[in-house]
Amino acid sequence: MSAVHGPIIIGSERSEAGIPAAMEILRAGGSALDAVERGLRMCEDNLEDHYIGTSGLPNARGIVELDASIMVGSTRAFGAVAAIKNYPNPISIARKVMEELPQHALLVGEGAEAFAEYLGFSKAELLTPEAKKLWKDQLKTINSESIEGENTKATTGDERYRMASLELVKRMAPHEGPWGTINIIALDKSGELVCGVSTSGYPYKHPGRVGDSAVPGAGNYSDIRYGAAACTGRGELALRSGAARTIVENIRAGMSPEDACTAALLEAAALPDDFRAELRCLALTPDGRHGGASGMQGSTYTLMTEHSTGPEFHPRRPL
Ligand code: ASP
Repeated sequence: MSAVHGPIIIGSERSEAGIPAAMEILRAGGSALDAVERGLRMCEDNLEDHYIGTSGLPNARGIVELDASIMVGSTRAFGAVAAIKNYPNPISIARKVMEELPQHALLVGEGAEAFAEYLGFSKAELLTPEAKKLWKDQLKTINSESIEGENTKATTGDERYRMASLELVKRMAPHEGPWGTINIIALDKSGELVCGVSTSGYPYKHPGRVGDSAVPGAGNYSDIRYGAAACTGRGELALRSGAARTIVENIRAGMSPEDACTAALLEAAALPDDFRAELRCLALTPDGRHGGASGMQGSTYTLMTEHSTGPEFHPRRPL
């Protein structure tokens, strides 16, 4: 591996719940893999966050299904789980897929749960009272008298997505507030570059729906030669455009991380999509350059270097 530019770590909005602990690992000479896993576990355990781990918002049936993945830049090893239920730390199970089941890269649903059980991971109820209330509040609106025609009022891609994905519950409004998948990318002292992503996916999604977070090249990609990138937001657009891999390829072609992210988002934005919602991304290179872009104004990403006294917030370039 090349010259030492780490440790450095970046993450999406709300990753600050885990990034300081992850940086402690890096400062002590620990691995990017351990740092990313530790940081994301803390985010998964953050009960105030309704887009990841315990207290994530459920699918249309009120069941929390989680997606997570981890990718190592030097080997392009990848591990992921998707639509996994009842296990609070999917990032750790994704890592075990990569390390202990290297003949596979992605396990879903019952198979992922069986693997977690075999490894002795503890089960937990993931639907917290607060997340359940948010879901139930949405269900209540379905029983109101003005259901007919409501779908036509949906103006944003988020609203249209959630409404149209629900044959079961016909109509859901988007959840307000800080939202989205959490990405963490770490570069350690040895020069290893690891990218991790964890999410409960789109709130009130169709059961079994898997987004970009568990798919290499879509929501997560790391290649030690050029950089690592990850996405938050409208996962189907990241899947269709291969967004994370596109960003890394853009860096390979000579773009800065910020330009690479912007170009990838513009490519995704050019796709026809009735359910268009914001997509955000961020990237880190093996020589420590970083940047992000977003479909909306005011988005930031979180950064810590060895010398940071706490998480620093950097603007993402708006499209
Ligand atoms: N990217 C996530 C997914 O498609 C959702 C999000 O970040 O809001 O599952």
